Amino acid sequence: MQKNLKINGERLWQSLMAMAEIGKTPKGGVCRLALTELDREARDLFVRWCEAAGCSVTVDAVGSIFARRAGSDDSLPPVMTGSHLDTQPTGGKYDGAYGVMAGLEVIRTLNDLGIKTKAPIEAVVWTNEEGSRFAPAMTASGVFAGKFTLEQALAIKDADGVSMGAALEAIGYKGKAPAGGRAVGAFFEAHIEQGPILEAEAKTIGVVTGAQGQRWYDAVVTGQDSHAGTTPMPRRRDAMAGAARMIACLEKIAQAHAPHAVATVGMLRVHPNSRNVVPGRVAFSIDMRHPEEKALLAIDAEMQRRFAAIASEQRLELGLERIANTEVVNFNPECVGAVRNAAERLGYKHRDIVSGAGHDACYLSRVAPTGMIFVPCEGGLSHNEIENATAGDLAAGCEVLLHAMLERAGIEA
Ligand SMILES: [Zn+2]
Repeated sequence: MQKNLKINGERLWQSLMAMAEIGKTPKGGVCRLALTELDREARDLFVRWCEAAGCSVTVDAVGSIFARRAGSDDSLPPVMTGSHLDTQPTGGKYDGAYGVMAGLEVIRTLNDLGIKTKAPIEAVVWTNEEGSRFAPAMTASGVFAGKFTLEQALAIKDADGVSMGAALEAIGYKGKAPAGGRAVGAFFEAHIEQGPILEAEAKTIGVVTGAQGQRWYDAVVTGQDSHAGTTPMPRRRDAMAGAARMIACLEKIAQAHAPHAVATVGMLRVHPNSRNVVPGRVAFSIDMRHPEEKALLAIDAEMQRRFAAIASEQRLELGLERIANTEVVNFNPECVGAVRNAAERLGYKHRDIVSGAGHDACYLSRVAPTGMIFVPCEGGLSHNEIENATAGDLAAGCEVLLHAMLERAGIEA
């Protein structure tokens, strides 16, 4: 491969900044929840750009967008890249959008250089990666990879009771192409690290070898609503007091499995949510992760045992529903190697790294040889409006992506 194949870093930056205008927040972030009007605008812009770059665009039944640049042998399975355009409510400009814009920039660069690849190239937008409006996360890549059925995905409802199917129809992105069930030559995803390691070690490229396993639960603790002034302490069935003990206990369990375990309670709903009523019901979310399956199992089992004990001590009922279970992921050694070789060839400082977050690439790895590229982000901060990355690092990641994709797709001589 020629060392001098360069992407246009300035154009990549301009595309990212234009995309960040859609749903921009006063603090410099982006709020573009999945399948909202703003998501539609972002999708429309991506489709316009891809069509202008000569791609044929298809949308599948779960709303994922595939922009295809033909190969010299168009019967070969495509080499794909992509990420997501939806964000968290207080999201940043780079999470997801970077991977999508990097895919577009690869296609534009191939056009500029007049390179014909053997296998076709596809840039993809996966629907509802964040899982903020519709849980679980990474829905569309999960359907593509056979983790969820199409029917399961379309039936997922948001907090207002709107189903994903209805939301897709509403924004005009319920496509006709079947979701998944076709061969993929390789999949690469470029993404900001969303953690502090690359920045701390002054490395430009993270060669992602896999991702940690992840479990999500919905917990509901039920006691009894009663008067805050007249119910003596021993007679109370205070769901909040029980939930508080459980949350503190979960934090201790994660700390006992340091340094790799993480556990988070990020959502809490209190019923009836009144100052002078003992809460009769508290619902909260649980997110736990670890890079080794065995440790994750142990943390999960310990949580279930301790929570059940707290519930019984406080005369509460506990409902624990597992709503997502993402196994530990190991990416394809050849794709990981392609990323590492590219970083090496281009002279970027790099290191191997395990992803702390879930990504669409994790599901894709079930059906395609997969690799990921990380670039640093300021202070390791993500899912935050002040999320930041440098134009130089973003361009470097895109260049590595180009080289890794070309290694897999082959160049027509
Ligand atoms: Zn992301």
